[in-house]
Amino acid sequence: MAFEGLSERLQKTFSKLRGKGKITESDVREMMREVRLALLEADVNFDVTKNFIKTVRERAVGSEVLDSLTPAQQVIKIVDEELTKIMGSQAVLLNKAAKIPTVIMMVGLQGAGKTTSAGKLVRYLKEQSQARPLLIAADVYRPAAIEQLQTIGQQLAVPVYEEGTAADPVEIVKNGLQQAQDAKNDYVLIDTAGRLEIDEQLMDELSRIKEVAQPTEILLVVDSMTGQAATHVAEGFNKQLDITGVVLTKLDGDTRGGAALSIRAVTGKPIKFIGSGEKLDALEVFHPDRMANRILG
Ligand code: GDP
Repeated sequence: MAFEGLSERLQKTFSKLRGKGKITESDVREMMREVRLALLEADVNFDVTKNFIKTVRERAVGSEVLDSLTPAQQVIKIVDEELTKIMGSQAVLLNKAAKIPTVIMMVGLQGAGKTTSAGKLVRYLKEQSQARPLLIAADVYRPAAIEQLQTIGQQLAVPVYEEGTAADPVEIVKNGLQQAQDAKNDYVLIDTAGRLEIDEQLMDELSRIKEVAQPTEILLVVDSMTGQAATHVAEGFNKQLDITGVVLTKLDGDTRGGAALSIRAVTGKPIKFIGSGEKLDALEVFHPDRMANRILG
């Protein structure tokens, strides 16, 4: 389960306040020092941590806590509200195009979980709205990517448009979109190539695909387990492609949670979905309030 480390540290910190009838400013200072360390250890971005601590401290030395009969609960409530806020407050759902198909472009580094997440999203869309999606295999560099997408397509009974690995990804997307139009598919998910790190060539290719596909959503898939690196990756992709949202994968293996807590604040873009396993049903809409509750236990 995600966030054990952070959860445990925060709970320990707050338990020290629990027995107290009154809390002083120095109690608050001490507590905030521990919260700060807990966040940094969870790999939360430095500036995000700094702003968070400042806001919570200001609120926690105010009358809503110091004059309260239940100060510990008040502090936890403030932390809960501010954690929710830095993660974006509200769940942000997928946008739909005015005219079918709604095109969703999946981008991200190699191994982040793009292909798997494309499959998970297709499953989600079928379940939510009986969608008739088409998957386009535009990752021509990773040898097994097309096969992997085809397997997913078979599992979900969804067509996969592919032209093998020799074709130009931009052309593949163009042709795939034509097929979607002819077949009246209501969603198109484009699985794009990744690299081990952000490079110009990849960004150039993705920009060209974006131009041709005019996607309603550009979802960046990032691996939650990479912590701050995931946040940097999100910044980089957002700068180049102006992403519309993030799919944060592998939360099931992330004991720290830094990416979930930083990405929204750093990029201004919402985490729309979280992945919590390898299976195609392991996808959830991201709810900042539920995540904050989960962290605070
Ligand atoms: P891509 O290179 O970005 O297309 O990445 P893949 O979709 O091939 O995923 C890379 C690996 O991560 C695969 O072994 C997936 O099964 C695994 N994976 C993807 N999402 C999740 C997740 O949410 N949790 C876990 N535990 N594994 C995941």
